[in-house]
Amino acid sequence: MKLARRLSVVEPSPTLAVSAKAAKLKAAGVDVVSFGAGEPDFDTPAHIKDAVRAALDKGGVGKYTDVAGILPLRQAVAAELAAVHKVVIEPDQVLVSTGAKHSLYNLFMALLDPGDEVLIPAPYWVSYPDMVMLAGGRPVILETSAADDFAVTAQAVAAACSGRTRAIVLNNPSNPTGAVYTRAQIEALAKVVVERDLLVVSDDIYRQLVYGDAEYVSIAAVSPEAGARTILVDGASKTYAMTGWRIGYTAGPLPLIKAMAKIKGQSTSNATHASQIAALAALTGPQDCVAEMRKAFDERRLEMVRLLRAIPGVACREPKGAFYAFPDLSAFVGKTTPEGAILDDDVQLCDWLVEVGKVAVVPGSGFGAPGFVRLSYACSMANIRDGVDRLARALATLR
Ligand code: PMP
Repeated sequence: MKLARRLSVVEPSPTLAVSAKAAKLKAAGVDVVSFGAGEPDFDTPAHIKDAVRAALDKGGVGKYTDVAGILPLRQAVAAELAAVHKVVIEPDQVLVSTGAKHSLYNLFMALLDPGDEVLIPAPYWVSYPDMVMLAGGRPVILETSAADDFAVTAQAVAAACSGRTRAIVLNNPSNPTGAVYTRAQIEALAKVVVERDLLVVSDDIYRQLVYGDAEYVSIAAVSPEAGARTILVDGASKTYAMTGWRIGYTAGPLPLIKAMAKIKGQSTSNATHASQIAALAALTGPQDCVAEMRKAFDERRLEMVRLLRAIPGVACREPKGAFYAFPDLSAFVGKTTPEGAILDDDVQLCDWLVEVGKVAVVPGSGFGAPGFVRLSYACSMANIRDGVDRLARALATLR
């Protein structure tokens, strides 16, 4: 079967390969502890589900809506994002999409011409480089180090800029590292972005999941010049345990939002009507559910990091946001299993961990960070203790 050439640039994700293996083993009845999922284990809060139920009972839900989203939701998003990012946002500058992933995809499709470059700090969320390439752009990966808590520096950004650079992706807090930028780092980045006239794609999907003394600092809020260059990408998935409802949103300059809506109008049309009502209830309803989930994630975070650090050979920074730990397991790459196999890289290590250790963790190479692995702590405390114990036991058998 001849397929479109544009697909040749997209790699199948090694991330998905390990998750798929874990799912297959589980389906076959094997007891596997999985740290692979990038979603809260909580159910969607009751008042959100109630709002949808009431709307369905009242009638009129389930029709096409405005491609950009129902006006009350765009108004609620505009109000919330304007308050957080200290910028003026009109409802017309908001586009509601089928998840933040869809927002990002349409954004790159609307923004990039062939050869346009987008700066992506590594470790990065797996989809950014592929989305940029599918849109015809060129991802330019910026290396960071664990010693700097994976923060990209203003110098690295300046050094990577060429005549073709359009934008930088800033994911704060970060998936996969859980790193949160400090105010000083954000201010330095805002300065270089204005100097180099770059757009910032600010993926803030985890901004409400920040722990301890870390704070979320918006790059848009640093100065009016930075605010004018920032495209805000956010959504309901992580904050409100609403991954499957598929609601994300973009706020930005009107011409860009209109261009994205044009693409959307020729592909998916509106995000699901009932899901938009759920997102409206999430944004305008009580927020204590967010605080409760954040508290639970924080307790699990501390426990997971404590247990990981107790494993000889494992180094683990403290993640300050999102719901992932990102330990360095490079000490185990190249080692030999009791079965006699040499684990040449983190993908093979993770493959062996799920098969023999019965614990699924995601190899860092899919995120541009070979030797690291990602564990989600958006799961029960029992899961965390059992799973990290399995990891420790399995790693102890490597020679
Ligand atoms: N950005 C980041 C950094 C993410 O981790 C995710 C979800 N894994 C998304 C965007 C997309 O989220 P959704 O499409 O569920 O809104």
